[in-house]
Amino acid sequence: MVKRILKLVGVLLLVLVAVQAINTVRYKPQNTASRAVDLPPVDSAAVAARLGQAIRFQTISKVAGQTERGPAFQGFIDWLVATYPAANRAMTRVMVGELTPIYRWEGSDEALEPILLTAHYDVVPVAQSGLADWQQKPFSGVIADGFIWGRGALDDKSAVVAIMEAIEALATSGFSPKRTIYMSFGHDEEIGGSKGAASAVAYFKDQGIQMAWSLDEGSMILKDVIGGLDMPVASINVAEKGYLSLDITASAEGGHSSLPPRDTAVSTLAAAVTRLQSAPVPGGLTGASKEFFDALGPHFSLSKRILFANQWFYRPLLEMVLSGAPATDAMMRTSKAPTMLVGSAKDNVLPQKAIATVNFRIHPRDSIDSIISHTHEMIDNPDIEVAIREGFGNEPSAVSDKDGAGFRALAQTFRQVFGDLIVVPGLTVAATDSVHYSKVSDNSYRINPFVFTGEDIKRLHGRNERISVEAMGLAVQFYGALIRNGGV
Ligand SMILES: [Zn+2]
Repeated sequence: MVKRILKLVGVLLLVLVAVQAINTVRYKPQNTASRAVDLPPVDSAAVAARLGQAIRFQTISKVAGQTERGPAFQGFIDWLVATYPAANRAMTRVMVGELTPIYRWEGSDEALEPILLTAHYDVVPVAQSGLADWQQKPFSGVIADGFIWGRGALDDKSAVVAIMEAIEALATSGFSPKRTIYMSFGHDEEIGGSKGAASAVAYFKDQGIQMAWSLDEGSMILKDVIGGLDMPVASINVAEKGYLSLDITASAEGGHSSLPPRDTAVSTLAAAVTRLQSAPVPGGLTGASKEFFDALGPHFSLSKRILFANQWFYRPLLEMVLSGAPATDAMMRTSKAPTMLVGSAKDNVLPQKAIATVNFRIHPRDSIDSIISHTHEMIDNPDIEVAIREGFGNEPSAVSDKDGAGFRALAQTFRQVFGDLIVVPGLTVAATDSVHYSKVSDNSYRINPFVFTGEDIKRLHGRNERISVEAMGLAVQFYGALIRNGGV
């Protein structure tokens, strides 16, 4: 009897190994080969010099609701007109929300739905405390060591400049698109886009204009960012997480701290936050995150490939591994992070209220309502209040088509310009102006055509922001090729 059971277990193990081996062998990468095409040359040094000029306009977004803006904003708008004369002759322009230009390049075929290319030219402030660590002054736009230095070099003035450079070259060469192309350059993305991108959307709606697809920032061409992959990855993000901040409030009598009850509002709140943090929001490898790893899986080394090829068997193990790092965990679930605390204003006064603010980034499978329910469930105390912090609740985006014409045009263009690379659909874990633009686009895609390495991550909104002269030249080629591929 025991022998027969052992034999049966042995056979089952063999079958399991055989099935996994077959799955692994059949688990082939998508075609990554580039197609050789002749792309017009770009004078990268001249492009770099103009990005340097653009960086010198201190178009800083400081705080939400900011109404005061210095002359740098209008200065930058005027600079776009003066610097790109052929583009400005080929296109018409309207201004919305005072400082956001919308350009329109009319196509010859009215039957084709238009497309929208977007970027923003406002930048985050530079922390005075870190000023000494900058190798070049943050608004100098200096070109040194093969890089253009300064705030906005990666996020996102470089995209505005690269788009205008591409159009200037196309217009000069006599090209005109079949499909109408719109551009929108927001002036307040870093503080929510409520004046710029939101006004652009209101304008498009008012004009009855709906885009076939739109392109905004949200990812880059990742080189040496994802461990275990030699090839660069163009993650064309098809969705964006939602944004939610909840104020969690514990109330109590208050009074003098020399005669305290067993629990104060602070200790009740602390217990609630601890319970909320005791387990992550349920998630896993489904939807956009599954598609991302499905497309990357075949490119990993054999040991990892076995896991990805046999997800029916290894999914719990894979999810455990991916949950271990914040970057991959954020792709699989709604994240939560307690960020602010308020209690009594004085050390010897019992608080009547203690408030913790928790910031969530909502995965497309969840919603504001489902996250509020999750929070109540975890805290499990009916006396604790949970409320949306005013102005800090945005649902996650819809998920755009990874097989649609826009995605295909983007994928084709990445391969033409950058050679061998992996193109995958991905998820933006932060918030961008796409929140607004997706309201007038059938499909929204999010990626900037900049080669981006692991060590660049800390430069975004950080110190020593820079982009290489070579990367900037490639970005101009990308937008030019994209307009030729997608604009026809
Ligand atoms: Zn940005």
